[in-house]
Amino acid sequence: MKTFSIAIHGGAGTLVKGMMTPELEAQYKSALQLALDSGYKVLEAGKTAVEAVEVAVKLLEDSHLFNAGKGSVFTATETHEMDASIMDGKTLNAGGVSLITGIKNPVSLARDVMEKSEHVFLAGDGAMQFAKELNYKLEDASYFYDEFRHNQWLEIKDTDSFQLDHAKKKDSKFGTVGAVACDKDGNIAAATSTGGMTNKKWGRVGDSPMIGAGNYANNKTCAISCTGSGEFFIRGVVAYDVACLMEHKGMSVKDASSEVIHKRILEIGGDGGLIAVDTKGNIAMPFNTEGMYRGQKSSDGIDDVSIYG
Ligand code: ASP
Repeated sequence: MKTFSIAIHGGAGTLVKGMMTPELEAQYKSALQLALDSGYKVLEAGKTAVEAVEVAVKLLEDSHLFNAGKGSVFTATETHEMDASIMDGKTLNAGGVSLITGIKNPVSLARDVMEKSEHVFLAGDGAMQFAKELNYKLEDASYFYDEFRHNQWLEIKDTDSFQLDHAKKKDSKFGTVGAVACDKDGNIAAATSTGGMTNKKWGRVGDSPMIGAGNYANNKTCAISCTGSGEFFIRGVVAYDVACLMEHKGMSVKDASSEVIHKRILEIGGDGGLIAVDTKGNIAMPFNTEGMYRGQKSSDGIDDVSIYG
């Protein structure tokens, strides 16, 4: 039987051993394991990679631990603006949403953009109108309130700075989430979801909802979900860059991912990581930060979640 597999991430950043309590570490690991197992079960049941990445990302969005969905960071105006995307490597269909508010699972709205609209990317009021037409329920602000996130915002709210959830502060939490999967038919998909950066303003959008930058899937090469300094990941067109190295230079998913994260993105000043899978189910999870919340599971028997480098 062909190998099928899934990988997930919950953000990369200054994650140093001993930084958090053993209890909190255990909470992170169990949230990651739950998302990983749930996505894997979808693949095991013979369903598609698209289905699997959506299921895994939804669970990460439902956890307050990660900067996506429920745990999204605060914007400069004390709101939450979320971005998400999904791509099907078999068809090259893709969907992205940005600057959305009140939606419990932004990844599902991205999937609806992919499957129920003629478009690829909807933003702001228009994306919300689309959600309304599909009868999405809107959560009120209290659903997204998290004291830790609020304190992060209070610290910088009167400044011009905005803070990546990857900031080099010992107490920072990290958390854009993503999943990539290869199903039993060898089709691959990727999904990514984020709350962006604390205190962001002017409708700032990062790489996560942008096809080719933070998310990409193509059965010719690989499926990728990124996390890191979005502005640099956009400039580096990181997800597509990995796919290009595979397609045009014949590199493996591991070598191409490593080249981009340990060389090409560093050269332009970016930091972060990515998860990638090819159509044989091979997984790569490189990062150039101290750590990355991550997990991988495959029909070959791999099953692990980890945080540190
Ligand atoms: N890449 C995301 C952004 O720039 C942030 C992250 O990965 O945590 O919006």
